[in-house]
Amino acid sequence: MIARLEIDLGAIRRNVAALGATIAPARYAAVVKADAYGHGLVEVARALALDVAMLCVYRIEEAVAIRDAGLPTPILILGPIETRDLTAAVRARAAIALWSTGAFSRDLARVARATGLRANVHAKIDTGVTRLGLDPPVAPAALVRYLDDDALEVRGAFTHLAAAEELESSYTSEQLARFDAATAPSRERFAARGIVRHAAASAAAMLYPHARLDLVRAGIATYGIWPSQATRDAAPTTLALEPALAWRTQLVVVRDVEAGRSVGYGCAFVTSRPSRIGVLPIGYAEGLPRALSGTGTVLVRGIRVPVVGRICMNMAFVDVTDVPQVATGDTVTLIGRDGTEAIGANELAAQAGTIGYELVARLPADVPRVYAGRDANAAIASATSIVRS
Ligand SMILES: *Cc1c(COP(=O)(O)O)cnc(C)c1O
Repeated sequence: MIARLEIDLGAIRRNVAALGATIAPARYAAVVKADAYGHGLVEVARALALDVAMLCVYRIEEAVAIRDAGLPTPILILGPIETRDLTAAVRARAAIALWSTGAFSRDLARVARATGLRANVHAKIDTGVTRLGLDPPVAPAALVRYLDDDALEVRGAFTHLAAAEELESSYTSEQLARFDAATAPSRERFAARGIVRHAAASAAAMLYPHARLDLVRAGIATYGIWPSQATRDAAPTTLALEPALAWRTQLVVVRDVEAGRSVGYGCAFVTSRPSRIGVLPIGYAEGLPRALSGTGTVLVRGIRVPVVGRICMNMAFVDVTDVPQVATGDTVTLIGRDGTEAIGANELAAQAGTIGYELVARLPADVPRVYAGRDANAAIASATSIVRS
């Protein structure tokens, strides 16, 4: 074993149930972009297929992978789509985030007519992230055009919030007010057609009840990782999330060395006492941030041990002098629980100067993933026949 990720699909489903209860009657869209935040797109999508109202992906390929797995859940593609991929998106019955006032919406309508299907869309309105979306002044008229276009099936309208982790800020309320104003002229048609409005990602879903609207798009919370410590401190105390992922490797070598011995590139660490150095078979190429060099801690036999020396491309070092009976082959836990100790994704990320989001999103796709809690989803097999109806 070089490294493996252990993923508890049961924990993911319990997180959806817990946050889902908090946000009800708003519905739950699980965000599964970035390989389900490193947890594995298809496995997570399958586990949640019947539990959530929608799965949000970033790329067309992710939508196609979910359909190829036979899953019927509504999908929204959040990111940009190239014109040449529109046919695949329409055929996959994946909703497209639409913010075009020009050629793209005409291309989409043309492709929809050519396939004989209406293109599902969620209109995207930019209320203050300055990323993707219609500008508020043009949004009301664009919405009416989308609603009038019989090649399009408008399923939703949404915006994204910039400062939902900041409780002190009025920015979230200002964004929601802009979203309200942009969608107000179409309100009756929205109601008549069951068109949903959504704005909140995980943090806003937890902290701002008035941001929940009809649906929330929860990514990080789905995986039991808090968006930030501030969010965790401010969230309802009844909301319990379980981390679903453990990242483990092993000591491939344990070496006894004398005091004054240099370890690793640049002689960045020199032992100050007779020491036991453990060598890990993973480095930054395997997703271990180089910024953890000399600052990170990991678990060996339930004990926190420091990462010493510079993290190499494929290897790293820990000081295991204080771990009784430490031996070659011992498991090393980078994220997860070992005995009474646990290291969360946010904790490891903070030691590397980043956030849990980045750490899990960059876990390489080729690290073997081992799943627990899959059996509970056997029912899905019989539900897959409704796909592509
Ligand atoms: C990634 C993303 C989300 C999910 O954000 P979390 O903070 O992980 O819940 C929601 N909406 C959009 C548009 C996103 O890009």
